Amino acid sequence: MTAPRLRIAPSPTGYFHIGTARTALFNWLYARQQGGTFVLRIEDTDRARNRDEHIAGIEAALRWLGLDWDEGPYFQSQRGGLYASAIEKLLADGKAYACDCTPEDVQARAKARGDKTPGYDGFCRDRGLEATSGRVVRLRTPDEGESAYDDLVYGRVAKPMVNVLDLAIRKSNGDPLFLLANVVDDADMAISHVVRGSDHMDNTHSYLLIWEALGYGPRPVFAHLPLINNDAGKKLSKRRDKVAVEDYRDAGYLPEAVRNYLALLGWAPGDDREILTVEQMVAEFRLEDVKRAPATFDERKMQSVNAEYLRALPVEVFVERAQGWLRDRWAPLGAEVQERARTLGEAVAMADFLFLPEPHMDEKEWAKEVAKQPALAAILDGAIARYPEVEWTADALKDATAAVGEEAGVAQLGKAQAPIRLAVSGRRVGPPLFESLAVLGLDRTLARLRSARARLEP
Ligand code: GLU
Repeated sequence: MTAPRLRIAPSPTGYFHIGTARTALFNWLYARQQGGTFVLRIEDTDRARNRDEHIAGIEAALRWLGLDWDEGPYFQSQRGGLYASAIEKLLADGKAYACDCTPEDVQARAKARGDKTPGYDGFCRDRGLEATSGRVVRLRTPDEGESAYDDLVYGRVAKPMVNVLDLAIRKSNGDPLFLLANVVDDADMAISHVVRGSDHMDNTHSYLLIWEALGYGPRPVFAHLPLINNDAGKKLSKRRDKVAVEDYRDAGYLPEAVRNYLALLGWAPGDDREILTVEQMVAEFRLEDVKRAPATFDERKMQSVNAEYLRALPVEVFVERAQGWLRDRWAPLGAEVQERARTLGEAVAMADFLFLPEPHMDEKEWAKEVAKQPALAAILDGAIARYPEVEWTADALKDATAAVGEEAGVAQLGKAQAPIRLAVSGRRVGPPLFESLAVLGLDRTLARLRSARARLEP
C-alpha cells in the first residue's frame, strides 16, 4: 500500500474555528502515523476580503498547534485554469449543461408543483443553452437508483439519486463553485483520505457524482467527523460560543493542552486516559475508532486539561512560558507604551488591560466621569451598537467613535473616547485608544463596554 495523502482545506474566514482545528489534528495524526503526507490547501474561491491576513492567521494557528504540513499552502484562487478545464470537459461530454433560471424562476416552479423544499428541477437540462457568461453551469445527476458511499466512521451512507439535485458547478460570473474546486483539487493532489466534518456528509453524494463524471478512478476513503456541540448540547456557533482557536491562545492556554483536548472531541484511546503525549496520540489514533455521536466542547474541561499540563511543567519552564505569553500580548503596543512610561512599573500598568481577564477600574476616575459626562450611557450604548459592524482597524474605530460621539451630542472626539477608554482599560491615560482596541479585539472590547454600561444600572 502506498502512503496516504491527507489534507486540511480551510476557507479563510478571519479566525481559525475549533472544529477546523480538530479536523486538521485528526488528518495530521493519521498522516504522521502512516508516514503519509499532510497537505494545506486554502479554499479561497470566495475572494474573502483581507485575504493575506486571513491566510497568515490560518498558518499561524496550525503552527501554534504544532500541526506542520508537508505540502502547500495551495491556493484555489490560483488554480482557476484547472477548474475551468474540468467544467469545459463536463460540458463537452454532455455531463453538465448551462442554465439561465433565476432563483425566482426556480422558486415559482417549485411553488406551482407544491414542493415544500424547493430545489433545482432540471428545467434547463435539455434546452441546449450555450454556456455563455451570465449563465450558471449545472451537473446532470441521475434520477434513478441510489447514491452510496462507505464512511470509516458512519458506515454505509446512502440517499436516493432523485434527491441529489443538479447542483451548480460554475457561477454565472464564471467562477467555479466550492464542490467542483474541492473535487478537482482532491483528485489533482491525489488525496487518498478525505477526513472532514460531518456537515459535509451530504455534499459527498454530489462530490462523488462530479468525481465519477470526470473519470477520476478509485474514490478516496471518506471519514466524517462528528459535530461539535457546546455544553448546552447546541451546535457550536460563532455568535454564541467562543469558537476561535486564537481566543484560547490569547487567553493563555498551552497549545499542547489544546491539541490534547481537541483529540478527545470524537476520539479516545481505548481506556480512560485523557492526558496523552503527542507521540502516544500518533501511535494510538484510529480513524475507525472515531465516534459518531456529537462531541461536546466544554471549556471548563479544556481548562482542567490545561491546568494539568501547567502543573507538569518544571517551574522555570512555567515562568518562562508565562513571560512569553505576556510578551506576545503586549508587544503590539510596545512602542506606544515605551513613549509614555517613565518606569517599567508604569509600563506594565499601562498595558495590563491587554492581558488581565478584566481591567482594574480606577474607581475615582470612573466616579468623576459619571459626574461630569451626562452622555456616558449614550456613548457606551452607541459603541456597543456600532463596533460589531466596523472593520476592526484603528482608523475605522476612530471614525466609528467619532460618529458615536456625534450621535450622543459629544462633538469632541477626546470626550467621546474617555468613557470608552475607562471601560476597556480601567484608566484615564494609556496608549492610543484605537490602536489599543484593535489589539484587544472585538469580543473583549464589547464585553468590557457592556460591563461598564452595567455599572450605570442600579
Ligand atoms: N473548505 C471547506 C470547509 O472549510 C473544507 C471542505 C473539505 O474539507 O472538503 O468547510
